[in-house]
Amino acid sequence: MALSHSIYDSPVFLQACHQFDAAADIIGMDAGVRERAKYPRRTLIVTLPVRMDSGKVETFEGYRVQHNISTGPAKGGIRFHHDVTLGEVAALAMWMSWKCSLVGLPFGGAKGGVVVNARDMSNGELERLSRRYMQEIATFIGPHLDIPAPDVGTNEQVMAWMMDTYSNHVGHFDPGVITGKPVALGGSLGRKEATGEGVAWFTKAYLADMGLKTSDSTVVIQGIGNVGSETALALTAAGAKIVGISDFTGGITNPKGINIPDALAYIAKNRSLQGFTGGESLTNDQLLELPCTVLIPAALERVITEQNAGKLKCRLLAEGANGPTTNEADRILAQRGDIELIPDVLCNSGGVIVSYFEWLQNQSAYYWTKEEVFDKLHKMLAKAKASVDETKAKYQCSRRTAALVLGISRVAEAKAKRGLFP
Ligand code: GLU
Repeated sequence: MALSHSIYDSPVFLQACHQFDAAADIIGMDAGVRERAKYPRRTLIVTLPVRMDSGKVETFEGYRVQHNISTGPAKGGIRFHHDVTLGEVAALAMWMSWKCSLVGLPFGGAKGGVVVNARDMSNGELERLSRRYMQEIATFIGPHLDIPAPDVGTNEQVMAWMMDTYSNHVGHFDPGVITGKPVALGGSLGRKEATGEGVAWFTKAYLADMGLKTSDSTVVIQGIGNVGSETALALTAAGAKIVGISDFTGGITNPKGINIPDALAYIAKNRSLQGFTGGESLTNDQLLELPCTVLIPAALERVITEQNAGKLKCRLLAEGANGPTTNEADRILAQRGDIELIPDVLCNSGGVIVSYFEWLQNQSAYYWTKEEVFDKLHKMLAKAKASVDETKAKYQCSRRTAALVLGISRVAEAKAKRGLFP
């Protein structure tokens, strides 16, 4: 396929393609299926005029990329970030396809994004932007077509505004159009904690496989947003010591252990970690090189790079974020051979698994207890972990490639069996 679009030159998209090719090579994927499986199925670009509090109208750019709809409705979050690009959203949509397929969800993969610094917006401006975005993508999505969810920079409240806008558009309450909603509006118990709960579950399971005790482990978390904070709370409850955390303003470290509830209360009040006195300040780059048992990147892509991969001092790298490790860094880590890696599509899959549970509960209007949600979640995580480790042993490949082999195989099979249209 001759491609002229610059989105496919994006470093994140190329990173995802490189990972895909490594897995496709292993299973000898047919060239025709390979091209169809790699590039997004549909992409929508929207222009969003929003009236700001000043009275002026500002225009924002937004995207929704449906990477794959061969295995079910597309599924994936919406990111609000000033650096979002279409190529990045396309890569994130591709990773959603492999993640959903790997853990056996009846979904394809999608992602959305709006180029905006939501931190600088008032609540009213954020509501108007969220509603306008949903208004523009409403005909492109739906509970059986494409189901968005939160991602970096969006939260339950944003999901509530979007669900309300969509419901007004179709003329009835339709909570299954979006997941990660507040519980009062059809959200699932445990969805808020789900991604971090899953990251912590995998961390504990792999530490045990390595013969290490969680209660003797030290943990560094880069990015203390929804995923990072829930991971920190779950690992603290399991006895681990969190010795480093960070946000976009920088990090703090404390070898005696950071008081996570105090840090989270400080962030809730001050809107950032800056000025928190529970440890020594350091930069995000320094934080990644701290000695620790477990390093958890839980923010954006491409933070473990050629520059720092050789300097990491962890035993286990648990990818809470999507795409945190570049292809070059992957190569260096493989050469080192002393760090176990839990790849993103496996490690952070708890979020979309509980999104699936939320969607199921919305379809049946019958709601589960948090215990039921976590019990079902843990079972799915255990099954996915066992399949990935079995595939890794079978092909003698990296854990990332093993996870992707599983992820892409099902999508490729669905495409081959359905024919050319889906
Ligand atoms: N944004 C999350 C992810 O990257 C969750 C997606 C979802 O729940 O649909 O996995």
